[in-house]
Amino acid sequence: MASSGVKPCADKETLLTFSRSRNNVSGRCNLLRIMSRIRLVVTSLAKHNCDLPVVISGAGIAGLASAVALHKEGFHVQVLETAPTLRQEGTAIGLWDNAWKALDSLGVAGGLRTNYSALDKVELCQGPKGRLLKHFSFSDCEGGAGSEFRAVHRSALLEALADSLPPETISFGTSVLSFSQQAEQPNAAATASNTGHGNSGTVPNVLAGVRDSMLRVRVQKGSVQEDLDAAILVGADGVRSAVAQQLGMPLPNYSGYSAYRGVATLGQEGVKRVGLPAGTIRQIWGAGVRAGVYQLNDSELYWFVCFNADLQSTSDAPEQHLQKALALVKGWSWSLENIIQSTSPDQVSRSRCVDRWTLSPWGKGQVTLTGDAAHPMTPNLGQGGCTALEDAILLAAVLRPLASLEGQPSEGKVSTALRKFEQLSSARCLPLTVRSNLMGAALQLEAAPITLARDAFVGSTLFSPAHFLDHAKYDLHAAVMRAQN
Ligand SMILES: Cc1cc2nc3c(=O)[nH]c(=O)nc-3n(C[C@H](O)[C@H](O)[C@H](O)COP(=O)(O)OP(=O)(O)OC[C@H]3O[C@@H](n4cnc5c(N)ncnc54)[C@H](O)[C@@H]3O)c2cc1C
Repeated sequence: MASSGVKPCADKETLLTFSRSRNNVSGRCNLLRIMSRIRLVVTSLAKHNCDLPVVISGAGIAGLASAVALHKEGFHVQVLETAPTLRQEGTAIGLWDNAWKALDSLGVAGGLRTNYSALDKVELCQGPKGRLLKHFSFSDCEGGAGSEFRAVHRSALLEALADSLPPETISFGTSVLSFSQQAEQPNAAATASNTGHGNSGTVPNVLAGVRDSMLRVRVQKGSVQEDLDAAILVGADGVRSAVAQQLGMPLPNYSGYSAYRGVATLGQEGVKRVGLPAGTIRQIWGAGVRAGVYQLNDSELYWFVCFNADLQSTSDAPEQHLQKALALVKGWSWSLENIIQSTSPDQVSRSRCVDRWTLSPWGKGQVTLTGDAAHPMTPNLGQGGCTALEDAILLAAVLRPLASLEGQPSEGKVSTALRKFEQLSSARCLPLTVRSNLMGAALQLEAAPITLARDAFVGSTLFSPAHFLDHAKYDLHAAVMRAQN
């Protein structure tokens, strides 16, 4: 198997070809991006002196953010992604204050801030009857003044993260199948095997040649299966994570509700006509069905419709997704139908809402999990993606001391660091997972007396928004300090 490492990133060929080497979503490549990628290559050359190679399974938010954070620490990182490109499923995502702090730390927040509107007001509404139950601003919440929230296109978030990585870091069309942990392994370059039918299209084994690599990761690219060597494997492969399954994790539980999500392109005038006050997150509640609308930017709105449903197929055509979403909110106020009708079918998706109440430790030896692979949570607090970003910072913080060691650290040191990461991540994510689950159960209730009581309570002076932003408050700096001690 060919060995490529970090060094080849520096050669002229790479510099000339990097803009076409990554099969990213839009292929938009302007001069600024090219300049910043060249800078990346140069700085990565200067930094890559760490002998601890990391394989990351999955190029979603968790995988890419972890790759950026670890790359910044000087690790050799390789990300393997099943899909042929960065995935767009979910269309957009709400990022709370904790996510922006993590994105700042990763150095990728700037461009996203420029392109997406800051929202700091909330409207809680009754769907069918069109009654505004409560409105408040973030400054009415405890510690909420200055708290940042923006909804962004998922593709923009993934691209921003991917663009912060050196070329060739991500191998698309490549699935992690399994891993094996070995007591001691001879020089990886000599042992890497290609069990497929040819040499073309194999995954570059950036880890080849590393001493005493203890993990072998079996991957599939097309019809070819091959083994890569790693000192650390990070399973960031989402709710159906192959790595989590091999670690013995059960699949997440279905909550009993699913969601349609979409991005409506209305243009500036259309957005104004919808009557959503600037900077407002609007949540609209019915019985067993609820919706939300957030402004992405001047001309686009992100919407979702969450509804009770049996565990069933999500393989409808996109046009059917739109029709079914419309049917769920038929006759509701708040211009919901207009917004959904202004959505192109390729801008809509359907997802099941699942979770798993995962206790740490969830990894073993030199293998860990992050993001949805580790702690899938229902979307009621909008924290799954945000905590995946936090995970990346914590993971890099626990591994930071190992990056500066001479030579490759022992398996024991790596394992201790990864268990510490899991402990910190679990302490943060388990309470969120439980809270999100309970909140979803309350918001998806169908019985009329209960929903009437709920709406009466929220509309009354008994309801206080004081704790509305609690989920977004996380002292990342303090957690990083704990990670390093
Ligand atoms: C309806 C809904 C709304 C949501 N809203 C929000 C929100 O507003 N804010 C928020 O923060 N979160 C939200 N979330 C949660 C958020 O979407 C997830 O927490 C987040 O996407 C998790 O990212 P991830 O990288 O861990 O997993 P994923 O995004 O699932 O990425 C996993 C990646 O791994 C790849 N992969 C899978 N298996 C393999 C394999 N074997 N080998 C290689 N690659 C593999 C996949 O193709 C995928 O690209 C919402 C979720 C839902 C369902």
